[in-house]
Amino acid sequence: MSNTSQTSGAVHVGVIGGGQLARMMGEAGHGVNVHLTVLASSPDDAAIEHCDDAVIGDPQDFEALETLASRVDVVTFDHELVGLDQIAELERRGVVVRPGSHALRFAVDKAYQRSALAGAGLPVPRFMVVSSSSDPRLGAFLDELGDAVVVKTARGGYDGRGVWFPGSHEEALEIIGRLDAEVVVEERLELLGEVAQLVARAVDGSVMLYPLVTTVQSDGMCTEVRFPAEVATVLAAQAEELGEQLASLLDAVGILAIEFFVTHAGLVVNEVALRPHNSGHWTIEGTTTSQFENHLRAVSGQALGVVTATAPCAVMVNVVGDDEPSSLGAALEVLGVHVHDYGKSWRPGRKLGHVTALGDDARAAHVQAWRGARAYGTRTRET
Ligand code: ADP
Repeated sequence: MSNTSQTSGAVHVGVIGGGQLARMMGEAGHGVNVHLTVLASSPDDAAIEHCDDAVIGDPQDFEALETLASRVDVVTFDHELVGLDQIAELERRGVVVRPGSHALRFAVDKAYQRSALAGAGLPVPRFMVVSSSSDPRLGAFLDELGDAVVVKTARGGYDGRGVWFPGSHEEALEIIGRLDAEVVVEERLELLGEVAQLVARAVDGSVMLYPLVTTVQSDGMCTEVRFPAEVATVLAAQAEELGEQLASLLDAVGILAIEFFVTHAGLVVNEVALRPHNSGHWTIEGTTTSQFENHLRAVSGQALGVVTATAPCAVMVNVVGDDEPSSLGAALEVLGVHVHDYGKSWRPGRKLGHVTALGDDARAAHVQAWRGARAYGTRTRET
């Protein structure tokens, strides 16, 4: 736990979840007079080292949520694997939750997200929500999609877990039958790339739009983030417009991250997250106010910080555990990179940290960030 003594008048913020996002909120907290208490599932969780206080418990256990809420002024999130009904119950009991359960539903439930955004006229892939492989509408919809089919669980998926690309309609039906839960069946789009727009939104509705970034995915997991985004300015303008529209539609407070597919028809919304996001880790060094600081500023009722880029280019590479143990020491020896270690024990496939390089030149920042990530021993590979 952090040794910094508590500043008087600090806003007490409770975070549901004790992962790396809460850890990086903890690092940003003292600069904005926030006292951070996390609800972690274990004393070994990544956030414990950098928060001020902790409650150990299950985020789906209402008693644990109540204990956290009783100690803080406002509750926020490090992940969305939460029970929406429980969060709504906290609100009914007078707990200040930011973002609120109405906004959070867009991130927790992909079926609701697709339906609500389509209803608001926003661009989403063609989709259908079903709960059974024998749904009578399914055959005609699969025929309409041909072999471009994606199946996604409505709830609980992350980092590509919960997303399938079936090779045939039989396989799609088999996956839907096996899942035995609400799923989204959607069109597999031809992607020209993927970008992410981060929006910080304050309690009074004012917003700060972060610069658009390109995200590089491998096996459903983000491996690299590049600023500036590798898209035409018209698409960057579309991302800003959609970002502002979504932030007010959702009534977001804190960071709203929107992942977009880049297609021949323009941007299409893939996902939204209502918390700091992997696509914004570069903002710790790359913008004047990081996503973590702005999230805390927003949820604690403060004004947002300006988000100007501090360098012409930035590249962030995720460090994921490989078959051999990682080497933080070797990464720290690479000059010109910012190494962030999440304090987690090494395990193959586990996100252990990230490396950011800034510079005047996109290619040089890319080479340097990968040099740091490789020295660290990442399993991810450069594309
Ligand atoms: P998760 O919620 O687990 O991150 P996503 O829904 O973001 O899963 O999907 C993971 C990745 O799969 C996306 O980043 C994208 O590369 C690919 N993908 C998902 N949906 C589609 C789609 N409709 N068309 C094409 N690719 C898709």
